[in-house]
Amino acid sequence: MEELRDRILKEGHALNEAVLKVDSFLNHKVDPKLMYEIGTNFKKYFENRGITKVFTIESSGIAPAVMTAMQMNLPMVILKKQASKVLNDDFYQTIVHSFTKGSDYQLTLSKKYISKDDNILIIDDFLANGEASLGAIRLVEECGAKVSGIGIVIEKSFQPGREVLEKRGYDVYSLARIKKLGKDLIEFIK
Ligand code: 5GP
Repeated sequence: MEELRDRILKEGHALNEAVLKVDSFLNHKVDPKLMYEIGTNFKKYFENRGITKVFTIESSGIAPAVMTAMQMNLPMVILKKQASKVLNDDFYQTIVHSFTKGSDYQLTLSKKYISKDDNILIIDDFLANGEASLGAIRLVEECGAKVSGIGIVIEKSFQPGREVLEKRGYDVYSLARIKKLGKDLIEFIK
């Protein structure tokens, strides 16, 4: 998505060779028009697959996911990050390692918001090692539902996330794919 690549080049800032900051339009301040275009793109790619719900991981996935859900006329569900295990049977939970924080959290989903007949599209802001997506997949599949696709706004293709997910048979669609990050350097896969 050219408009997204342009914004990343103009406003993105590589903290080091592995982490990109895009706080001015995606992760802190949010550009709703760009999010709308992102939603349009995801809809175009994922429509006609019988998807029933859009799932995302709090909090930076929410803006692109809600625009995608709106355009696909579907409900959106936010998977919550909790510090500790919930001690009752009303929730599915799985431990996920956070790439940016370096610590673990309990990804949490209320059983009220999924059923075994659901066909889920997962949307997230970044793909690095694939831990967040794999956690979301575990929660969906624990209930017997299906993941029909994974939509990523910014994929860091030099990290293993895509390969890990594709090896397991999931369709990963990313709007911007970064080949290399470095001081004053952001290089895309065309
Ligand atoms: P993964 O679980 O694929 O290793 O990492 C993806 C998650 O970590 C995303 O949900 C995102 O919030 C965060 N993340 C990974 N890499 C980056 C990055 O370079 N910049 C920012 N802002 N977040 C990242």
